[in-house]
Amino acid sequence: MKNDIPYAPLLRQTTEHALAYLQALPDAPVGATATLEQLRERLGYPLPNSPQDPAKVIRQLVANVEGGLTGSAGGRFFAWVIGGSVPAALSADWLTSTWDQNAGMFTVAPAAAVVEEVCGRWLLELLALPATASFALVTGCQMAHVTCLAAARNAVLAKHGWDVEQKGLGGAPAIRVVTGDQRHGTIERALRLLGMGRDCVIDIPVAPNGQLTAAALESVLVAAPDNPTIVLLQAGDLNTGSFDPYLELIPVAHRFGAWVHVDGAFGLWAAASPAYRHFTVGMDQADSWATDGHKWLNVPYDCGYAIVADREAHYRSHSHHANYLTHSEIARDQVDWNPEYSRRGRGFPTYAAIASLGREGITQIVDNCCRHAHAIVTGAGKLDGVEVLHVPHINQGLLRFLAPKPGATDEDHDRLTEMITARIVASGEAMFACTTWRGIRCMRVSVSGWQTDENDVDRTVKAIAAALKS
Ligand SMILES: *Cc1c(COP(=O)(O)O)cnc(C)c1O
Repeated sequence: MKNDIPYAPLLRQTTEHALAYLQALPDAPVGATATLEQLRERLGYPLPNSPQDPAKVIRQLVANVEGGLTGSAGGRFFAWVIGGSVPAALSADWLTSTWDQNAGMFTVAPAAAVVEEVCGRWLLELLALPATASFALVTGCQMAHVTCLAAARNAVLAKHGWDVEQKGLGGAPAIRVVTGDQRHGTIERALRLLGMGRDCVIDIPVAPNGQLTAAALESVLVAAPDNPTIVLLQAGDLNTGSFDPYLELIPVAHRFGAWVHVDGAFGLWAAASPAYRHFTVGMDQADSWATDGHKWLNVPYDCGYAIVADREAHYRSHSHHANYLTHSEIARDQVDWNPEYSRRGRGFPTYAAIASLGREGITQIVDNCCRHAHAIVTGAGKLDGVEVLHVPHINQGLLRFLAPKPGATDEDHDRLTEMITARIVASGEAMFACTTWRGIRCMRVSVSGWQTDENDVDRTVKAIAAALKS
């Protein structure tokens, strides 16, 4: 081809590699098949001295990762909450690397800045959050927690006359973080990164339905009514998908001047479906929300969203000005809202995902995942020796496998559950992981990939049945 750039053949070949991967995906083993030793041996050759042909490097890379990739982009990956990539998002992600924009500021990468502005507006609409909220596109929900909680830290200390951006935490009034004991581990990591430490967390045991109760919350808050406080609620518990009762809890927290943060890594997306948004009623009254793009929206890794109702606190905690930078007077500079400095043009895949799916397409992904999770759990529940511990009300369910011997104990069931789960994974037909819930081992069923269909559900239930028989 005329005017081709010298490395055009490499990029065309790369497209072929990508297509070959995607074409093989539906029937490839879902779990990894290569061992650690194999991967190290294949990939870990000595540091090359001289340049190598890029086409050969890529060919070898593709060959050497064989068996070391998990099929999370496909339809039968149910371990952890991991989505695939919808076509437009994958495409836009390729272009994001091609364009190689430094999406830190408008003047450096104008289109990337405006695309993120639009993503923010669309996300707030989709998730039914206040249109005036500020936002940041970060690497994942954990960093969304960091971003939101930095704003929270700023605001709750400002109320006590303490400027944390200037003075830091030494000598500051201690902040307590009050939450249900089923919260995600990333909360704690976010708090450690923010210098608040593990000990600031007060974990309240949740009710049997997985929810924090207003009475329990109030009894903790009332013990130290004047402390700077952050209350952390869940939208989608990682095991059961349960939602806290926002209408009851948020007014209690606000009565004590607390900042309310919602961990909605995947569950926030229930708000995008008319069938499931009743779980999120009142959630818009919170002060900040963290969620992911790489889970239920099915954009490629890595992508999360931090959303903050108090724009001023968000800005005070993140904004950055330097005399060698050209700050825009009129546009939105991401550096003022994001923890990173230089960063990927993360908005492009999100923009393409939302534009291509529209509201209806996103609703459909949410609804399909919930329906398929329900079908897998209830389908497996009909098999002998399977106990259903949680029937999904959204996309998360729990099963365990019961040891058949008389007088079997929970430890026996735990062991069998681990074993059957490993067998299913070894069959290559589907991928699940175990979790500990209320002290017992369960196989968690998480459906968040856009590719999963009825055929995948059938194959998965059959694979569970086969693992029980073998
Ligand atoms: C996945 C998850 C997180 C962490 O999100 P990352 O995108 O991995 O940083 C936090 N909370 C919940 C409930 C999750 O499911």
